Amino acid sequence: MDKQDSTRGMPRFDVGLTGGIGCGKTTVADLFAARGASVIDTDQIAHSLTAPHGAAMPALVEEFGAAFATPDGALDRAKMRALVFADPGARSRLEGILHPRIREATAAAALLATGPYVIFVVPLLIESGTWRERVVRVLAIDCPEEVQVARVMTRNGLPEAQVRAIMAAQVTRAQRRLAADDIILNDDGLDTLVPQVDRLHAFYLAEAARLVGVPNERL
Ligand code: ATP
Repeated sequence: MDKQDSTRGMPRFDVGLTGGIGCGKTTVADLFAARGASVIDTDQIAHSLTAPHGAAMPALVEEFGAAFATPDGALDRAKMRALVFADPGARSRLEGILHPRIREATAAAALLATGPYVIFVVPLLIESGTWRERVVRVLAIDCPEEVQVARVMTRNGLPEAQVRAIMAAQVTRAQRRLAADDIILNDDGLDTLVPQVDRLHAFYLAEAARLVGVPNERL
């Protein structure tokens, strides 16, 4: 067994954190990180793969053409967004390039994690299917749709229709709540998040300690 295999063989308590656009995934993940959890954000990883000269750029240019790259070698996001909204086949081709690379980079980051447990931030965890069996718990950050719309309109300066179009491509609030093991309700001020994060952090620490002490059939 090589070094990587023996590292992968160690039990690890993995949590998948998800939520609709603007529900507060990053805000909550930051609170867990401040308490010592290792946080790996798949959106940030995806972003770095398509940043100037990112690892996915050669394959993307080959697939979609140089017109989808900016002069500095990054993905032209606006152009790609317009294409995949209009053409589901293009979305599949984009995902076919990005998803395996995100998986690989995410696994590599997890091998370096030093926290007592790992939180993977995965916006489309429930939609994408393969993540569910890769984590021990699914944590959904939950908020009413009206709150989502208001937050994203404010943060991104997007019109309401565009925010609702993005939300329409995601599972509903009810579906997400059903799929989750744990739920944090983020419909009020930031101070309401702290006790919820503290309670779950204590639970995850205890579960992680329990996992390390027993054989882990999942790995
Ligand atoms: P995205 O899906 O777009 O990545 P997200 O789920 O990571 O979003 P955040 O970026 O954490 O969501 O939050 C969206 C916006 O709402 C941010 O501007 C954030 O500061 C704000 N926000 C989140 N939670 C609260 C809260 N409880 N009170 C006030 N503002 C909040």
